[in-house]
Amino acid sequence: MAKTDNSTRYRVKPGSKVELQQHDPGYDNGYTKGSPEVEEKLARDLDRICEWQEKLYAESKQALLIVLQGMDASGKDGTISHVMRGLNPQGCAVASFKVPTPQELAHDFLWRIHQKTPARGQIAVFNRSHYEDVLAVRVRKLVPQAVWKARYDQINDFESMLTQNGTRIVKLFLHISREEQKKRLQKRLEDPKKHWKYSPVDDQDSRLWNRYVTAYEEALSRCSMEAAPWYVIPADRKWYRNLAVAEIVEQTLAEMKPQWPQRPEAPAEGGEHV
Ligand code: ADP
Repeated sequence: MAKTDNSTRYRVKPGSKVELQQHDPGYDNGYTKGSPEVEEKLARDLDRICEWQEKLYAESKQALLIVLQGMDASGKDGTISHVMRGLNPQGCAVASFKVPTPQELAHDFLWRIHQKTPARGQIAVFNRSHYEDVLAVRVRKLVPQAVWKARYDQINDFESMLTQNGTRIVKLFLHISREEQKKRLQKRLEDPKKHWKYSPVDDQDSRLWNRYVTAYEEALSRCSMEAAPWYVIPADRKWYRNLAVAEIVEQTLAEMKPQWPQRPEAPAEGGEHV
């Protein structure tokens, strides 16, 4: 069966209105878990990502920022470990954004974010991001409405500035169903290897599911830009989520097309070194 191209299929068209109900979190694009086709495709995309990263690093002209957002237990950590596993750590960094510290709160909301954006030649992955300031902050009513409402434009301006300065931005919303989230949160309580991931805050947030859906829909609708698109990734099936994310990251790097730099000119015979 012919498969659709993930990098356009899940992209939120700038200006369109996202309704998460219209996106199936269990979608698998006709692939079969564990099939040779899936294994080969994933391996091929991960290999290509590594090759692109080497060029990006050598070229040192552009940067890639991958933003990961999703409800609790949507698989942000798992995506990072599966899809980024082959990257050279020298050219890659992960930044996790938690509840802001008093020092962070004393600044504007983008202050801590800007410090972690990638330098030219680098890939940065954000595990949560500045979007928490229109998500958790909105849902938990941490600032007045007028404050979070102004942030969509502020985020778009900030991201436009980054893209105009050579940073490509890909924003991935890991879309899981309520049922899948409940299953995963329950597992955190039962499995000793997952206890460390359990947080009572997750249970509170889970009860706020509908409010989070509304907040996500507005963020995805208002902040998907041509140069910094949002993608809604079906994430109930971990193996398919990894496949889709790897394909999107690979295609983004292919579009950025970093090039090996030319060999530097040898100094002219008898010429002075500068
Ligand atoms: P994670 O769930 O990312 O693995 P934690 O369990 O420590 O890590 O959760 C981080 C928490 O920090 C989340 O509840 C998230 O909503 C919250 N958070 C992140 N950024 C902000 C912010 N700017 N304002 C308020 N809460 C935030």
